[in-house]
Amino acid sequence: MTAEEQINALRSELHDHNKRYYVEDAPIISDQEFDEKLAELIALEALNPQLFDPNSPTQRVGGTITKNFNTVMHKHRMYSLDNSYNRQDLLDWEARMCKNLGVAQLDYTCELKYDGASISLTYKKGALVQAVTRGDGFQGDDVTQNIKTIRSVPLKIASNTFPEQFTIRGEIMLPIAGFKAMNVLRIKAGEEPYMNPRNTASGSLKLQDSSLVAARPLVCFLYQIVADRSYFDTQLETLNAATKWGFNVPKHYTHAASMDRVFAFLDQWETKRTSLPYEIDGVVIKVNSLAYQEQLGYTAKSPRWAMAYKFKAEAVETSLEDVVYQVGRTGAITPVAQLKPVLLGGTIVKRASLHNAAFITGLGLHYNDSVFVEKGGEIIPKITAINAEKRQINSHPIAYATVCPECATPLERNLDEAQHYCPNVLGCMPQRIGRVAHFISRKAMDIDGLGAETIQLLMQHGLIDTFADLYTLREEDLIPLERIAEKSAQNIVQAIANSVQVPFARVLFGLGIRYVGQTVAKKLAQHFGSIDALSNASLETLEGVDEIGTRIAHSIVAYFKSDQSRKLILQLRQAGLQLEQQIIQTPTSALLKDLRFVVSGVFERYSRDELKEVIEQNGGKIVSSISAKTSYLVAGDKMGPAKKIKAETLGVSILSEADLVAMLAS
Ligand code: AMP
Ligand code: ZN
Repeated sequence: MTAEEQINALRSELHDHNKRYYVEDAPIISDQEFDEKLAELIALEALNPQLFDPNSPTQRVGGTITKNFNTVMHKHRMYSLDNSYNRQDLLDWEARMCKNLGVAQLDYTCELKYDGASISLTYKKGALVQAVTRGDGFQGDDVTQNIKTIRSVPLKIASNTFPEQFTIRGEIMLPIAGFKAMNVLRIKAGEEPYMNPRNTASGSLKLQDSSLVAARPLVCFLYQIVADRSYFDTQLETLNAATKWGFNVPKHYTHAASMDRVFAFLDQWETKRTSLPYEIDGVVIKVNSLAYQEQLGYTAKSPRWAMAYKFKAEAVETSLEDVVYQVGRTGAITPVAQLKPVLLGGTIVKRASLHNAAFITGLGLHYNDSVFVEKGGEIIPKITAINAEKRQINSHPIAYATVCPECATPLERNLDEAQHYCPNVLGCMPQRIGRVAHFISRKAMDIDGLGAETIQLLMQHGLIDTFADLYTLREEDLIPLERIAEKSAQNIVQAIANSVQVPFARVLFGLGIRYVGQTVAKKLAQHFGSIDALSNASLETLEGVDEIGTRIAHSIVAYFKSDQSRKLILQLRQAGLQLEQQIIQTPTSALLKDLRFVVSGVFERYSRDELKEVIEQNGGKIVSSISAKTSYLVAGDKMGPAKKIKAETLGVSILSEADLVAMLAS
């Protein structure tokens, strides 16, 4: 046998053993024999570098480093799924489809809804060539090197009946046992445990070092083949074929001849799901016929032929250990329940928000109560009820804090507000830090490199008292501080210096005046044009401004009355910050007559609605989606990439907010 023949034989043998072990769970050789064969292959490949194969079983161990993951367009968009929460939703869905197709009955497949990170795998001539994350559905990240290390992903397909090229979609999962084992190691190493399997799975895909991915017990479940339609007639056939080709398709899927059979499947899994070694968050029901799928098509977000059925939020019981109080930058106090740690929907839950004093009274919460905790979707868990039977005799109701946990100042509460406040605005540490953190945040001054800890350090060292003092910082002040390297000191000082260019509206937002959020700040900046005009405005003037109510007006007047605020503004002025902006009189003209605009994203100067108004006032027409007839796409921050791509494809010009303003000024 030549070296080449030997290598090829070993490769296909190892692919096969790998599949038997990781997909079929039925190995026929021992781990030791496997390792010996792998070692033999590694040695042979090292001697014959000209025979390198990117899909060799030796590539599973990883070791390649990906610095930047390339963005890749999906050939077929990866849609979301519509959700249903009860059986009536499903019956309604069925009725809609039957009407749409003009048929009396449909049959379905039922699959489990795996809760992991979606992935799209492309195979050419039976070899894995690309693995892409879902991203925003239109484009994702190329994570091929990392995916290759996942043992249940075939690198080569053994069968010979597959299409020349196809894409198969699935979910990268971290089984619960593997997740717990990873956490045991982390805790031993003194690191914070991971919060839940899903996030850990999706985080794994973006690790730069693929050998770290190889070390994680990830698995890949497949559920959808996207290929030329002539290959299959039904979803069931695709699942069977994928299984036959060696993909890891969990065997729990079933064919349901009618909605009644779907309901039976739901009944079964509603109770059985907790016994699975991995997490599911529901069932996915798909119309079985691919011809019908094609006819039904897609909404803007999801296929019309598939529906996710979500299980009811899981609830667990645990005990309340304590109530602690957090102080926000405005002094607002948020009570937080400290719970005995408990696993809920795969996440270790230790805290739940209690919102305010009235919420606690409403629950009737006592110290040491046994409570039910629920989690809906991504939201912070909440306490839904108390188990009254387990309440201890002589237990006491929660006595709400009377003083600030940070500075011991007696708390206050306005009669018309639910929240308590710490009134020690100038002295209370979390408020002082919070104000600086808010000032430098992305939507305000956008100064990178300073975390809450560094801010605290700066205050403790007497280097800053308020955010205005940031502008006096020098590199040599920062370098002696713990944790700040010379390079980062340079960057921080540079970022602070750059921020003097930030437009007035964002500076105003950064001041952190209570109730003056981003939108209100823009409104005020555009209306008054300068901090001086704003600070001189009376209550009546302020209330006369469109959308500015009494509460906001009072807060603004109070802010500018304080000596502290005036001093702060003086300092900012000396530092050269933008404290005024040109008021744009929105012109009315016919300049934009016959032009059609799509407005998307977040803008600096105007809110999106204002921008639309400006366009209309000048004769332009607003349309909601981009077509070949669209004249301009006005693109702001955070606009989805899909819009941009569509505009570029159709040759629609893209304008920035500044471009539009300039266009109107001309
Ligand atoms: P959602 O993100 O809630 O809109 O749900 C859509 C996602 O469910 C898809 O992107 C898939 O990643 C995931 N999913 C899990 N299991 C399945 C399945 N059996 N069929 C289709 N999608 C699934
Ligand atoms: Zn305080």
